[in-house]
Amino acid sequence: MKRYSAFAIAREALSNHQRWERAWKKPAAPKSRYDVIIVGAGGHGLATAYYLGKRFGITNVAVLEKGWLGGGNTGRNTTIIRSNYLQDASAAIYEKSRSLYETMSQDLNYNVMFSPRGVMMLAQTEHEVRGYRRTAHANALQGVKTEFILPRRVKELCPIINLDGPRYPVLGALWQARGGTARHDAVAWGYARACSAMGMDIIEKCEVTGIDRDGDRVTGVQTTRGAISCDKLGIVVAGHSGVLADMAGFRLPVESVALQALVSEPIKPIMDVVVMANTVHGYMSQSDKGEMVIGGGADGYNNYTQRGSFHHIEETVRALVETFPMVSRLKMLRQWGGIVDMTGDRSPILSKTPVEGVFINCGWGTGGFKAIPGSGWGFAELMARGQSPLCDAFSLGRFREGRFIDESVAAGVAH
Ligand SMILES: Cc1cc2nc3c(=O)[nH]c(=O)nc-3n(C[C@H](O)[C@H](O)[C@H](O)COP(=O)(O)OP(=O)(O)OC[C@H]3O[C@@H](n4cnc5c(N)ncnc54)[C@H](O)[C@@H]3O)c2cc1C
Repeated sequence: MKRYSAFAIAREALSNHQRWERAWKKPAAPKSRYDVIIVGAGGHGLATAYYLGKRFGITNVAVLEKGWLGGGNTGRNTTIIRSNYLQDASAAIYEKSRSLYETMSQDLNYNVMFSPRGVMMLAQTEHEVRGYRRTAHANALQGVKTEFILPRRVKELCPIINLDGPRYPVLGALWQARGGTARHDAVAWGYARACSAMGMDIIEKCEVTGIDRDGDRVTGVQTTRGAISCDKLGIVVAGHSGVLADMAGFRLPVESVALQALVSEPIKPIMDVVVMANTVHGYMSQSDKGEMVIGGGADGYNNYTQRGSFHHIEETVRALVETFPMVSRLKMLRQWGGIVDMTGDRSPILSKTPVEGVFINCGWGTGGFKAIPGSGWGFAELMARGQSPLCDAFSLGRFREGRFIDESVAAGVAH
């Protein structure tokens, strides 16, 4: 892999930028066997493959993707990165992830445009004030730097905000100064390039249609491009986790729903922080192109559309207009949805499964972009060693044993 650098840009300019090599290889066909197969070339699948190679020297790996790389939720989210969760197990994995984002561009030699611009979660009821103060105390004990700030500071950090609100006044906010955003596609592309450089195969347009077993042990997968055998299989398919689990012969406590987002026309810089208004339910940041990136709600019923229902657009825009009145004068450019996989306690599943050799990474719901590097770090360890301190609390067994990691009350939304 040729390193990207200012020098490389100058060198390639001499040939009118005609000689850049492909960022990652596209193998003509999958091999008949790999040590490890990862299903799903989203951020979590690619990060898992990357750390399998980087931390454990396992490089005979294929990442199989039914569509195109990063075309699932990884390329559809609003890119909020924060680690101010309530429970210790969550804070550990999300903070590991946030800290890996800080150096990701250097690690991957790929600019993922990590922008630690600060994330604030508005408190608009007394209940939220109490909840966020509690989270700030928990974060202090966990070593995660957050603070509860008062309305005056909120206004200083985000002058376009309306503190009085027609329905709910702003009473304060939970503020994480080192939270922020990153370029979602670049995260997928950067990992793909690094995996390819280690000799791994990333096979797009290759849908897994069946999982082969010998008794209780996995032996390989059936795909639209033929059968492929493997020793270990990682299922990392977000909203399709239930479908893949069904192929393997077990059930998952997850529901798949559509979550949507929209962007406005680009405008001059007006906002250099991320704001989440969870009571009225809308959140917003400004992209480097100037578009206002707006996140909406999840559908209240299970479905597999990548679109989302219309009334959520109306509710989201209403929430945004009361929080930031200037939004009423913006034109919206486009809207889209992704299929997110929700667990009952709103925490992920990183676990072995009833089928030996099959591991599952899912349940990130509406908030897994921020977790990509941390999840890949821990899940690779779980797949390589059979155990990982970052993942142990997130096993499937917690649903059977009642050891829930309840983040649903800590953050009404988990983005
Ligand atoms: C609108 C929206 C806004 C969001 N905002 C945020 C946010 O601000 N911050 C945040 O942290 N998170 C956010 N999220 C959540 C975040 O996007 C996801 O949690 C995360 O991207 C999940 O990554 P993944 O790699 O697990 O899944 P994905 O990126 O969905 O990748 C899974 C891949 O598996 C593939 N696949 C499925 N079935 C098969 C099969 N049978 N064979 C082969 N491949 C298969 C899919 O095609 C897909 O590419 C948001 C999500 C949405 C939809």
